[in-house]
Amino acid sequence: MRTLVLADGDLGAISDATLRVVGAAAALGQPVDVLVFDAASASAAAQVSGVARVLSASAGDADTLAPETVAAQLQTLAPQYSTILAPHRARGRAALPRAAALTGGAFLADVIALREGAQFVRGLYAGSVIATVASATTCTFATVRPTSFAPADAQGGTAEIVALEALAPFARTRLIERRAAEQSGQDLGNARVVIAGGRGLASPDNMTRLGRLADSLGAALGASRAAVDAGYAPNAAQVGQTGRSVAPDVYVAFGISGAIQHLAGMKDSKFIVAVNKDADAPIFSVADVGLVGDLFDVVGALETRVGSPASNEESRA
Ligand SMILES: Cc1cc2nc3c(=O)[nH]c(=O)nc-3n(C[C@H](O)[C@H](O)[C@H](O)COP(=O)(O)OP(=O)(O)OC[C@H]3O[C@@H](n4cnc5c(N)ncnc54)[C@H](O)[C@@H]3O)c2cc1C
Repeated sequence: MRTLVLADGDLGAISDATLRVVGAAAALGQPVDVLVFDAASASAAAQVSGVARVLSASAGDADTLAPETVAAQLQTLAPQYSTILAPHRARGRAALPRAAALTGGAFLADVIALREGAQFVRGLYAGSVIATVASATTCTFATVRPTSFAPADAQGGTAEIVALEALAPFARTRLIERRAAEQSGQDLGNARVVIAGGRGLASPDNMTRLGRLADSLGAALGASRAAVDAGYAPNAAQVGQTGRSVAPDVYVAFGISGAIQHLAGMKDSKFIVAVNKDADAPIFSVADVGLVGDLFDVVGALETRVGSPASNEESRA
């Protein structure tokens, strides 16, 4: 049997998340195929190291693809595959459970490790319990947490491209508009350094100040849910169980207590620095370096070291 990876990302490109799922799929020890929905992505996918075949599907406008259409395509392919994987992101999260329901297969979400013998490791209760689940269905569908795996090399592959028969797009719903969330600075998902702020920031202005510091350091700005709920930071900045999962080289948490739901999204970071005035804050249990003190003292000291954020603003203007 084979493993299929459902690609996601911008048209014409293979996302870093998809490369990581291809990297994850290698652990299953079977040939790995990739399914794409636009011809331009097919040639990018064919160059990915470790990919045996690229299945190039067409089902109307690739930019307005409905999850039901993707699920119908997966249903036609499922008999050839023991495992169908996708990044744990919008496309896979919407399409794979539907495909599992259509085929009577099992669906597992947010898998963090894969083992031979159809064993899938995933966190429960925001990562406080790690479960290893064996699937007994002929085809298992699983979304995979990209940050838990190293990416496959985007170059070096010579996969065959197979054009699939065109599929009628799902017609009962129609995507009218897609609007990207406003984002400034570095992309949180790809940043090597993330500077994150929590409720301890105490105001939107202070979060903006932290954002300028992040900018000066070439880092992305993250936030706790409490900070997002309080209106200090946009939804797109939220890190955690119900936000983004990140695993940068360095994660710096300012005024974040370290609730389990926040840790679920950042504890895989390679080096964690926490600044909190409460020495008992749970964030210190995952921190490589912990600073007990007022975050504004530390932010001020860093601003002095990297140059005043105000002057950086002026220099950008
Ligand atoms: C189903 C569910 C899903 C959730 N998903 C998420 C999620 O995805 N992401 C997430 O983050 N949370 C999530 N939460 C919420 C989570 O439980 C916490 O409420 C939240 O993470 C707390 O955010 P915080 O640490 O910023 O705030 P708090 O817990 O209020 O902590 C603020 C911290 O700032 C410190 N502080 C205050 N002032 C200063 C100062 N001047 N200097 C230094 N330190 C200071 C305090 O000591 C404190 O530790 C979820 C909750 C539920 C129930």
